[in-house]
Amino acid sequence: MQGPEHHQWVKDFVLGNYGRYDFWPVRGEGAQVWDEQGRRCLDFAGGVAVCPLGHCPPAVVEAISQQAATLIHVSNWYSIGLQGELARLIVQDLVQIPGKCFFSNSGAEANEGLIKLARRHGQNTGGRYEIISFTGSFHGRTFGAMTATAQEKIHGGFGPLPPGFVYCPFNDVAALEAAITPNTAAILLEPIQGESGVNPATPEFLRAAQALCRRHNLLLLLDEVQCGFGRAGEMMGWRAILPGDEIQPDAISWAKAIGSGYPLGAFWVNDRNGLPALLGPGTHGSTYGGSPLACAAALATLREIARQDCCGNAVRQGAFIAEAVRSWKHPLISELRQFGLFIGFELNEQALQPLCHGKAASIMLAGELLQRGLLVTPAGPKVVRWLSPLNISREQAQEALDIMRAQLDALQSQLQAS
Ligand SMILES: *Cc1c(COP(=O)(O)O)cnc(C)c1O
Repeated sequence: MQGPEHHQWVKDFVLGNYGRYDFWPVRGEGAQVWDEQGRRCLDFAGGVAVCPLGHCPPAVVEAISQQAATLIHVSNWYSIGLQGELARLIVQDLVQIPGKCFFSNSGAEANEGLIKLARRHGQNTGGRYEIISFTGSFHGRTFGAMTATAQEKIHGGFGPLPPGFVYCPFNDVAALEAAITPNTAAILLEPIQGESGVNPATPEFLRAAQALCRRHNLLLLLDEVQCGFGRAGEMMGWRAILPGDEIQPDAISWAKAIGSGYPLGAFWVNDRNGLPALLGPGTHGSTYGGSPLACAAALATLREIARQDCCGNAVRQGAFIAEAVRSWKHPLISELRQFGLFIGFELNEQALQPLCHGKAASIMLAGELLQRGLLVTPAGPKVVRWLSPLNISREQAQEALDIMRAQLDALQSQLQAS
């Protein structure tokens, strides 16, 4: 049981690196969580895109429980059959391009793998080492992934940062072309940026990035940690931008949704040009990565996403939500960006300013929605994201819409009264 002493312990003994809401969830089921007072909330934050099937999905609970009672962990000195089963599923059923997988424990670590792959590729082709990434990106908090993240606020005060990262404006083909030098080894991008507020690459930009990679023998690295595995209505996020086979990445990273909250990350390397051999024996590794328990959680999650047709549901519910929100023509929403159930509400920051009391508009609104029983996730100062489970019902979508609408209307009347 959780009691007041837990509040004190968090305050006294847990590092204060997160700006947290004063909300203490203790139990979850599907799209709902309950706090320690038994108050129910609709969870459209989804652990920041980590819970594609909602909380405690029975198939995943069953798989984890069974595997935990069978074999939790063995070292990667030995062969782990479930890694093969999971890698096969990812390569053949989901990516559908021949390649090989590596398993890590998080998204940042998966991206470290992509960075190491790019460095090896560059070393092998004339000593190149630069990786181009984009404004608004987020790639994680380890040194490499943090430096790849082209956001000043993430780097602040941690210098010197590792060399070899070059930043370029997102969706600007001319700037990307100009950023390529004889030192460039790879281009790293999120097909749909998450932390900066559900910002998609344009189809032209993705095409151009691929063409430039081919022309200059660079690796095209896709960070699908947030947009992958059904979030955007496609198992591969980039296919929500350009369907089919037009884009053939060299490597892809994932984490978040892959294990329903059991920590696991992964990257895939295209078989083309012998790329997987760049990371041969002894070049890379992880103690926990791809443990039997993690693989069992991921296999159950990915199979359940397919079995429940979560992509189809994300497309349908996402379109329903977007249509409803657009019909409001609400003065406090300046733009809606929606790909499946990857939804960003861009707020009218300027209008909301008198109600923000120095906080970011996104953080203020997420806090107010929490009071009304709806969890959502801020993304930058002016966007709130909905990252609901992919298997939500129409009724749950409607409930969230009703709460959002009521809160926006309440804020609008406060503004009019002041
Ligand atoms: C969350 C995220 C990461 C980092 O993942 P962690 O598991 O927190 O290390 C990397 N890239 C993207 C696009 C993300 O959304």
